[in-house]
Amino acid sequence: THNTERHEYDVVVIGAGGAGLRAAIEARQQGKRTAIICKSLFGKAHTVMAEGGAAAAMGNVNSADNWMVHFRDTMRGGKFLNNWRMAELHAKEAPDRVWELEAWGALFDRTKDGKISQRNFGGHEYPRLAHVGDRTGLELIRTLQQRVVALQQEDYETHGDYEAYIKVFSECTITRLLKDGDAISGAFGYWRESGNFVLFDAPAVVLATGGIGKSYVVTSNSWEYTGDGHALALLAGAKLINMEFIQFHPTGMVWPPSVRGILVTESVRGDGGVLRNSEGRRFMFDYIPEVFKAQYATTEEEADRWYTDQANNRRPPELLPRDEVARAINAEVKAGRGSPQGGVFLDVSTRLPAEEIKRRLPSMHHQFKELADVDITAEPMQVGPTCHYVMGGVEVDADTGAAAVPGLFAAGEVSGGMHGSNRLGGNSLSDLLVFGRRAGAGASAYVDRIPARPKVLAEQVDAAREEALAPLGRSGDNPYEVHHELQRTMNDLVGIIRKAEEVSEALQVVEKLKERVAMVGAAGSPIYNPGWHLAIDLRNMVLVSECVARAALLREESRGGHTRDDFPAMDPTWRRKLLVCSLGPGDGVRVEEQPQPQMRDDLLALFDGDELKKYLTDEEMAEFDGIAK
Ligand code: FAD
Repeated sequence: THNTERHEYDVVVIGAGGAGLRAAIEARQQGKRTAIICKSLFGKAHTVMAEGGAAAAMGNVNSADNWMVHFRDTMRGGKFLNNWRMAELHAKEAPDRVWELEAWGALFDRTKDGKISQRNFGGHEYPRLAHVGDRTGLELIRTLQQRVVALQQEDYETHGDYEAYIKVFSECTITRLLKDGDAISGAFGYWRESGNFVLFDAPAVVLATGGIGKSYVVTSNSWEYTGDGHALALLAGAKLINMEFIQFHPTGMVWPPSVRGILVTESVRGDGGVLRNSEGRRFMFDYIPEVFKAQYATTEEEADRWYTDQANNRRPPELLPRDEVARAINAEVKAGRGSPQGGVFLDVSTRLPAEEIKRRLPSMHHQFKELADVDITAEPMQVGPTCHYVMGGVEVDADTGAAAVPGLFAAGEVSGGMHGSNRLGGNSLSDLLVFGRRAGAGASAYVDRIPARPKVLAEQVDAAREEALAPLGRSGDNPYEVHHELQRTMNDLVGIIRKAEEVSEALQVVEKLKERVAMVGAAGSPIYNPGWHLAIDLRNMVLVSECVARAALLREESRGGHTRDDFPAMDPTWRRKLLVCSLGPGDGVRVEEQPQPQMRDDLLALFDGDELKKYLTDEEMAEFDGIAK
């Protein structure tokens, strides 16, 4: 293993966003020696960018809220494809995780009577998002980091070393997981700055690497989101589920071009903002789908009354789940009723006083002023769909976060199942806390349970080194060119609306790109070399893109974040099937159907038969009628 730097831990957490930090805190609290590794600076994870808030049925603003209502909303948002056990745990445990954050020092916005305030968001029946203005993610990360520091101070008291039980390795990228037989034995990576290699010897690894947005041109995601954890899991023999489901957030900036895709938070709509087309029409009233007709207002008057009287009015259609709103905007632009820069208008300026806008949406006000020279207190924004979140991810056990590979765990955006075919806004931050904690506990229990520590095998370390070094000095394709072609292909052919011919064409391109990725070259040395880093990331992006495209081709229906132009209806027989990706020989992606486990009876009984009929097959309904009686 040459002179590779080497560290030994009980639990290695890859990723320092909300999921990774919460997992690491849990592992340390269970007495495990824990490493936190992140490829960007500590504190600069995606979680920091989360604006709207964390969804938790605390019932502070409307006391009718409880875990059962939250569970129902989550299942509806995901069009019943969710792993119902995860949705159940999430809805039940989210309030405790938010209160715990407060106990660790988070300062949430308050209601008049001093409780944690909660705001409205798409798909949530009651005001449910605990928030800090529109900078909730920042406060969440700040608090978790502060908790890490507090634990390190405790460790200094007891062991005389701040890093005895929890240490952060930042600007360090993991490129391979290592195994001894079937089981995880560690992780291998490089320091971004020096290019030197580093080896972590550990029986348990928690993946908390976030999403895959950088495979698309127009995205709200930043440079780290290259699907590393998804690919690391696949390469280690784990499975990915639901990869066809990608969330296109309805409102990204469309102009100027340099910032296209940057997120405009859903809170703008939650706090009263409305969508209009070039004719000035509030077009969302034209797009309320059959399954949601009962819950949404049919007139502007009713929708507007809802903001002050939710008991007697139905919610505005601007607050439909994200997939519905994104498709509606797409359709308006296609029909020639878009804004000058190719989006639609999102207006809060005529809906709230300027001071109120600045108070509730300070970051949005700042973002538009700085980036687009638009004053959102005086004029509408122009917005359009942007690739935002991947519902698909590592298939895990709901209770422990365990993947199919012994010793491998996953939590947060890199895991799959919780959100089904579409995630509700605000359900990610709570997901990170609930399942980050569970994965940290799952990994700790695993370490306690195994009879012997798996060994790091020298030949695997050598192979990982060689693989990482291969692009350096090779006179192959330029990684930036290959990346751009991949992004365009995914954006144009496997985007918000899909067709069999286009997805097949994308697969052919991706196959060719896979060959080119194996030959990309990066000039220069390993010392701080972004071209080399991208060459390494491309392996992951191409693998993940292939999973998305293959699953998208197989699923012949439209549901949540997967819309097939050639199969526009939702099909109950497809709700019973999950598409599962794994790697075959030669790293070819294999996709197989797997039955979706039947929902537990007491959870099914939380729904009305009339509603279930829209999602379940006739056979399932017959069974349900049995339970209801
Ligand atoms: P992240 O926070 O992204 O952390 C990933 C970590 O993994 C990083 O530390 C990264 O450096 C590290 N990493 C990745 N690859 C490697 C590697 N190979 N080696 C080492 N480290 C690696 N959700 C909500 O619920 N409410 C909101 O209001 C909201 N707003 C959002 C706004 C924006 C602009 C965006 C982009 C997302 C928003 N989301 C929101 C979604 C939510 O923020 C993310 O889904 C969530 O933060 C993901 O958290 P995570 O812990 O899984 O990953």
